[in-house]
Amino acid sequence: MKAITIKDSNKKINVGKIVCVGRNYAEHAQELGNEIPEKPVVFLKPASALIYSGDSIVYPSFSEEMHHEAELVILIGKTIKDADKTESANAIIGYGVGLDMTLRDIQSNLKKKGHPWTIAKGFDTSAVISDFVSVDDFKLTLDEEIILSVNSNVRQKAKLKKMIFSPVDIVSYISSLMTLEEGDLIYTGTPAGVGQVAKGDKIHAEITGLATLDCSVQ
Ligand code: MG
Repeated sequence: MKAITIKDSNKKINVGKIVCVGRNYAEHAQELGNEIPEKPVVFLKPASALIYSGDSIVYPSFSEEMHHEAELVILIGKTIKDADKTESANAIIGYGVGLDMTLRDIQSNLKKKGHPWTIAKGFDTSAVISDFVSVDDFKLTLDEEIILSVNSNVRQKAKLKKMIFSPVDIVSYISSLMTLEEGDLIYTGTPAGVGQVAKGDKIHAEITGLATLDCSVQ
């Protein structure tokens, strides 16, 4: 069982499910030729895909095009179902920065066939997370920037305000589809600038003032 560490706290929380939102930044939807959605696009990753800052992302043998996607990640702290905005806000206990590593070649083929994205999104090491910061210690304003660099070259950089659906809206919407529980993680989508990584690359991601993450590709 994988666990989440909350910075400056002894508390460890076992990871539940990993729910991800796609196409939550208009410019990223457009760069992949997708329409801007009316509701969040939702998919899942298995908890077994999770690794931590400092670990290595392992390039799967069945893909030749792995992309980085830097994202704000929400940590859920209580069981909610059909939650309104207040209940949704109260269920968020921490934030971190994460990578939703994606096999773009596989995903493009799956999309064409109308198949689920599982193979492109659920492979081992595809979900990277930083330590989480308690909402008691950091008030997220969405004025923060999310930045990702590969070998010190900045590839993604955007204000969190550019998200189409806010963290509270996302939590509320997902809770209308499935029960959310303590330890569930929600990846909130990536801004424009996604691109390929290669073996040996070093990835750095951060949300300004909140969290940083470093890992390499092997
Ligand atoms: Mg993503």
